[in-house]
Amino acid sequence: MAKTKFKINKKRFIPAVIFVVMLTVLLGSVVFELVLHGNSMMWGSSDMSIEAQKARAEKKNNPYGANKKDPYLVLVNKDNQMTDKDKPNSTKAVEHYTDTATTETCTMETRAANAFNRLTSAAEDDGVEIVLTTGYRSYSTQKKLYDYYVNKFGKSKANKQSAKPGWSEHQTGLAADTSSPEVNYQLTQDYADTAAGKWLAKHAHTYGFIIRYPKGKQDITGYEYEPWHIRYVGTKAAGVIYKNNLTLEEYLGED
Ligand SMILES: [Zn+2]
Repeated sequence: MAKTKFKINKKRFIPAVIFVVMLTVLLGSVVFELVLHGNSMMWGSSDMSIEAQKARAEKKNNPYGANKKDPYLVLVNKDNQMTDKDKPNSTKAVEHYTDTATTETCTMETRAANAFNRLTSAAEDDGVEIVLTTGYRSYSTQKKLYDYYVNKFGKSKANKQSAKPGWSEHQTGLAADTSSPEVNYQLTQDYADTAAGKWLAKHAHTYGFIIRYPKGKQDITGYEYEPWHIRYVGTKAAGVIYKNNLTLEEYLGED
């Protein structure tokens, strides 16, 4: 009987070895984890590095990683106005504009104008006519327009009809009011249902433009839905804004 006392039972030996190996691996990884991250496991996240804290704050203020130094992302709205000195570095006339446009308002900031030309030419290839009604509007032009409305209708009505000088995004040279023959080249919300309006909503971002005052975002932009007013921000920002259904304010974390 003594012989059989130390005889290894093979049926039980193999599962026992597997069990011991697994237990060792498990214990080993717990110990390794404690050594590696012991601090944070014992004291929570209070020892989060300054860099990590900075990154977290940055993400909160800039949720989409916008390059806030990019001049093409300049924000003009109810909280951010331009001065009478602000104007684009260079402007040029776009290719397709209405005959109501002046030698100034048929222009846009040069890079935006080039992008606008690519946009209208691509629309044309799809059988859609899109034209510019107003591009760049200088501070003094905006002032003349605003004063005209004030003289004609009084101040409170004028404030609804026209932006005050310095308050219009058109002063950046990056904004464009567009229209088409379907709405007789007028600026109207009906434009959204035209071939031109639909084409613009679907493709503008490909050329670096966004619908600046989208439907249902008046609380953020301060403007009612304007399906005709597009704004150049560059293709990268426009793509993110389009994909996430944002306003420029939200993209910049300034909403
Ligand atoms: Zn406009």
